[in-house]
Amino acid sequence: ATPPVWRPSLFIIHVTPELATVAKVGGLADVVFGLTRELAIRGNHVEIILPKYATLRYDQIYDLQEVYRDLWVPWYEAAIHCTVFFGFVHGRKCFFIEPHSQDNFFNRHTIYGFHDDVMRYAFFSRAAIEFMWKTNKHPDIIHCHDWQTALVPVYLYEQYQALGMTHPRVCLTIHNFAHQGITGPELLRATGLHRPEHFFSPTRLGDPRHPNALNLLKGGIVYSNFVATVSPRYAFETKDLGQGFGLEPVLHTHHIKYGGVVNGVDYDVWNPEIDRHIPVQYGIDNLDRKYDNKRALRQRLMLADNAKAIVAFIGRLDPQKGLELVRHAIFYTLERGAQFVLLGSSPDDRINADFWGLKRMLNDSPDCHLEIGFDEDLSHLIYAGADMMLVPSRFEPCGLTQLIALRYGTIPVVRAVGGLADTVFDKDYSNRPLHERNGYVFNDYDHRGLESALGRAIACYNDYPEHFRELIKNAMRCDYSWNRPGQDYLNIYDYIREP
Ligand code: ADP
Repeated sequence: ATPPVWRPSLFIIHVTPELATVAKVGGLADVVFGLTRELAIRGNHVEIILPKYATLRYDQIYDLQEVYRDLWVPWYEAAIHCTVFFGFVHGRKCFFIEPHSQDNFFNRHTIYGFHDDVMRYAFFSRAAIEFMWKTNKHPDIIHCHDWQTALVPVYLYEQYQALGMTHPRVCLTIHNFAHQGITGPELLRATGLHRPEHFFSPTRLGDPRHPNALNLLKGGIVYSNFVATVSPRYAFETKDLGQGFGLEPVLHTHHIKYGGVVNGVDYDVWNPEIDRHIPVQYGIDNLDRKYDNKRALRQRLMLADNAKAIVAFIGRLDPQKGLELVRHAIFYTLERGAQFVLLGSSPDDRINADFWGLKRMLNDSPDCHLEIGFDEDLSHLIYAGADMMLVPSRFEPCGLTQLIALRYGTIPVVRAVGGLADTVFDKDYSNRPLHERNGYVFNDYDHRGLESALGRAIACYNDYPEHFRELIKNAMRCDYSWNRPGQDYLNIYDYIREP
């Protein structure tokens, strides 16, 4: 370990559309939750600003109170009256902005999915920075997340800097390039970012693919002082391998301030030594107890108790996750004499129906169980009880399942894309030293590719159990906590900070 270096304490404000455990849709919520804690532990002053959604989990907010009654946020030719609340989310200092207008921006039954989503978040971003300005907050760093808050640096450098906000620097983390916030000229009228010829310019918010559209995420990239995505490999893929959904040339232009930081995992929640969701806790020194969980998993899912390996899949049933290969893996696994467990669900009824059909087809097999649904509790038991975790994604910005699996000594079998390529190293073919190899990896998105990795994993489990055990130990020794990413982000902050 490197000795701690002294560094000045920073004032950091995260502006975010999501935060576990109060407003969670996806991984972004967990990242902000984990990173803000790590930054605070390291002695920084950290605050979070998010919308006051009607769907907030109020039972998870401690001591919520109104702290700023009359925040007037400019919008079109007038202004919208907002109230700001403050409360603690598991110790994190959070400001919640509540607008009062006919638009009803955040008083809805879900977080996303509305025709005016772009306007809702353009407004939120404006409200967040207006709040900082009115209350004289001068953070060293404003950290934004995804297209929803990508306008913050645009407002800062186009409007608020001239009003005296000269100190803050902005870091933007992009969790997924698939969503960018693409919209029309209406945005400029609403936000007071006048001068269409200025903002539509290809060097600013002009969308690279649609000449008459504005792109919020692109604006975020252009105006932020640093742009991070959630793994170095995904940074490369989005810039150079055509995975940037049209933003490749923009990333090239700004490559100097673009990089990847692999997300951390919350080891307070995901740790087999203290996990209360599993019947028997275990660690690297009493690995045999992992197999008590394997038995419990079989009991819960009514699988045969035998000497076979258990291969698992946990994830959203989204095409991104490589569903064709998941399907193939189920049959291949059974054919190779192992068991298969799947936990997943989709908002798309057709996909769910597909997997329900598969489930019925395999219903009589004592070696296979498909659980269609979302069940965090069961996921813990699968992480603990399975021998291998399959992640055959088409693309994967970072990926959490393989990181959690490693912690539980469940060997990841993954396709070499995005964060998977940065965190899983093949037992047989990696150029890493032996003790750093922690799984099985394949390249090609096809049956042969999948079989090449999964086949080797099952064979090793069956024929060389002592080698497989070494692999488990390597996996459990990996540190994918927030420790390293926390340091990485502090280095980024230091790099861009106003001295
Ligand atoms: P993504 O953010 O694309 O969904 P990640 O791998 O980053 O993928 O994160 C997925 C997280 O969601 C993991 O913690 C995984 O355990 C959890 N998860 C996904 N599907 C389910 C499910 N059906 N039931 C329980 N947990 C799930």
